[in-house]
Amino acid sequence: MSRVTFNDVKKMYGDVLAVEDVNLEIDDGEFVSLLGPSGSGKSTVLRMIAGLESISSGEISIGDRVINDVQPQNRGIAMVFQNYALYPHMTVRDNMSYGLRLTTDLSKDAIQQRVEEAATMLGIEDHLDKKPANLSGGQQQRVATGRAIVREPEVFLMDEPLSNLDAKLKMHMRTELQRIHDDLGTTTIYVTHDQEEAMTMSDRIVILAEGHIQQVGAPEEIYNQPTNLFVAEFIGSPAMNLFDVVLEGSSLSGDGFEYAISKKLGDEVRQSTTSSNLVLGVRPEDISITDTRSEDSIEAMVDVVEPVGSDNYIYATVQGQEVTVRVPASVKPTVGETVYITFDEADMHLFDAESGQNVFDHVAQADSPVVESTS
Ligand code: ADP
Repeated sequence: MSRVTFNDVKKMYGDVLAVEDVNLEIDDGEFVSLLGPSGSGKSTVLRMIAGLESISSGEISIGDRVINDVQPQNRGIAMVFQNYALYPHMTVRDNMSYGLRLTTDLSKDAIQQRVEEAATMLGIEDHLDKKPANLSGGQQQRVATGRAIVREPEVFLMDEPLSNLDAKLKMHMRTELQRIHDDLGTTTIYVTHDQEEAMTMSDRIVILAEGHIQQVGAPEEIYNQPTNLFVAEFIGSPAMNLFDVVLEGSSLSGDGFEYAISKKLGDEVRQSTTSSNLVLGVRPEDISITDTRSEDSIEAMVDVVEPVGSDNYIYATVQGQEVTVRVPASVKPTVGETVYITFDEADMHLFDAESGQNVFDHVAQADSPVVESTS
C-alpha cells in the first residue's frame, strides 16, 4: 500500500510558519502535484515526506505506517531533485546503482539488471558508461529519474524536476514522466510552480498559498470551480478577468456597466451569501465580442489585438480596467473600436468580495485564511 496521508501537519522553521493544517489523502498510484507560488510551502511538504525536514506537529503516513520517526532511507520513497544531484566523478551506471548498493543487499547482477531496465525505459542505455558532464540536460534529468526508479520505491517525490530544461525538452519530459507513471503505477508527488505543468500531468492538484491548502481537485475541477479568488487568478493563462460588482435586483452593477442576470441566479446568490459586494470572474475564452449593445453586455474599447495562431487575444478596457478576451482568429476588431463583451451566465464565477470565497462553494475550507494572488 502506498497511500500517503497527512493528518493536521504543521511545519515551523523557528518562528517562521511554513505550512499548517495540512490534511490530505493521496491514493495509491495517484499522480498529485503540489502547486503554488514561491514560498507557499510546496517543498516543505515534500521534504517532510522525504524525511529531509522534521514535522513540527501532526502525522504523515505512507500506507498504514506513520513515518514521522522513520529514518529517510526506510520510508520507501525516492526523490528526484531540480538540480539532479548526480555524482560528477561516477558513470551513469554507478550513479544509478549507488543507492541500491548502499541501502540494499541485492546482488551485483540484480542491481545491474535493474539499472539496465530503467536505462532502457528512459532511452539512456547507450550512455551508461559516460560521466554526467558528457550528457545533455535532458539526459542528466533521465539519469536522476532512473536513479529513483531503480529503487522501486512506494512513492516518488519530485521537486521541480523539469525546471532546468528548455521549453521543448520540458514538454517532451512531461510526456515521458507521465508514461513512466502509467507503466509503473507508483504514487507520485510532484512539486511545481508551473500551473500548466500541474494541469497537464496530474490526476489531482493541491494548490498552496502562504502555507495553507487552498483547493484540492482534478485539473478540470480546479479550472471550472475555483474555490476562491486566489485559485481563480492563479490557474489559467491568460488569467481570469475579475470585476468588482454589486448585486442589485437582477443586475450586476460594476464600474461603468450594468450586466443583467436571470432572476434565478440573483436569487441563488442571495441565498448563498448575505453580502452584495461580489467579484465577477470570467475566463478570456468564455467571452464573446459583438458590435451591438444589449442588456447583458459590457462596453469595452479595444487596445491590442494579438494573434496567437488559431486564436486572437484581444486586450480591451472597461472604464480603464483591462479585460482579456480570447476569440477565434477570424474575429479581428480594430484597435480603438468600441465593442460589447458578453458571456453566458453558466460561465460566470462569483466570489464574495470580502472573504474571496466562491459564492457557490459551500465545501470550501471556510477556516482557511484567504490570500491575495501574487500572479
Ligand atoms: P516553496 O517550495 O513553495 O517555494 P518552501 O516550502 O520552500 O516554499 O517555503 C515555505 C516557507 O518556509 C517560506 O516562507 C520560506 O521562506 C520558509 N522556509 C523554507 N525553508 C526554510 C528554512 N530552512 N529556514 C527558514 N525558513 C524556511
